[in-house]
Amino acid sequence: MIIQTSPFLDIHAHAREPGQTHKATVADTCAAAAAGGFGAFAAMANTVPVIDTPELVRFVKGAAVLGVTVYPVAAVTVGQRGEALTDFAALKAAGAAALSDDGLPLTSEKLLKEALTRADALKLPVLLHCEPETRQAEQAVFWIKRLGCPAHICHVSKADTAAVLRKARREGVLFTAETCPHYMTVQADGKMNPPLGTERDVEAVLDALCDGVIDCVATDHAPHTAEEKASPNPPNGVVGLETALGVVLEALFRSGRMPLDSVLRLMSGKPAAVLRVPVPPGVISVDTDAEWVVNPELLLSGAKNTPFAGMRLRGKVVRGDVG
Ligand SMILES: [Zn+2]
Repeated sequence: MIIQTSPFLDIHAHAREPGQTHKATVADTCAAAAAGGFGAFAAMANTVPVIDTPELVRFVKGAAVLGVTVYPVAAVTVGQRGEALTDFAALKAAGAAALSDDGLPLTSEKLLKEALTRADALKLPVLLHCEPETRQAEQAVFWIKRLGCPAHICHVSKADTAAVLRKARREGVLFTAETCPHYMTVQADGKMNPPLGTERDVEAVLDALCDGVIDCVATDHAPHTAEEKASPNPPNGVVGLETALGVVLEALFRSGRMPLDSVLRLMSGKPAAVLRVPVPPGVISVDTDAEWVVNPELLLSGAKNTPFAGMRLRGKVVRGDVG
């Protein structure tokens, strides 16, 4: 079946610019995004240098190509060092769509509290990386509730975290949360943080998506070179923009858990609402039955570290008209 739908929006991608262009660039991340049906993505701040100044925000935003919108995510703390907060107002004025110290959780309660309060005053979403996941998610929920300021929990992967969030949802806590395609199937393979879950975790994550405890799907697209991934201590992360649709359709739609339009909203309207931005303009055509095998070499992403190499997927964007 070929359907037309709104382009997707990924609120969690690593475009590796500035400074890590051997892994990927904003331009090839845009190419991977467009191929996967994404009309926009949020580019995380853990680059070299860290995106913590208005100049760098403007640079990343301006590097977008192919009609894909790039929403720069600026660092919460200067240099992501967890010491001093960045100038949220100046970063927002330059085009930052959100704040995150992705990869480095805010462990200081004082800073977390101050960051949530200041960001809320500016209506800037804060994307929290929780590590260790369940304990930090509990802490985040505690402060969100206490301060009445919203925040977003990144890449939920565990049944225990889903349980914490389910309770918080019942209590009306103002959080939003995402999970990633590689936490939605037991067939993924790769080293990432948080690590891949067990069958019980995958089930819990899918249940949480169906119940609205987890709001949306993000890829955590994280390019690394083949050399880096083959090294004795490989970095965490996998690419995901081009495979997200096929994996998500399998896990939620073809499994009979969710109707197609609801599944597509998890990758478009819902993440746009979390980021408080419009759904990307344009229309994409999706062939929900198109079968294909993931061949890393054919991915347009700068790096090929997919957790789905060799996997047979069903569902592909056959025509994208974004921007
Ligand atoms: Zn990330």
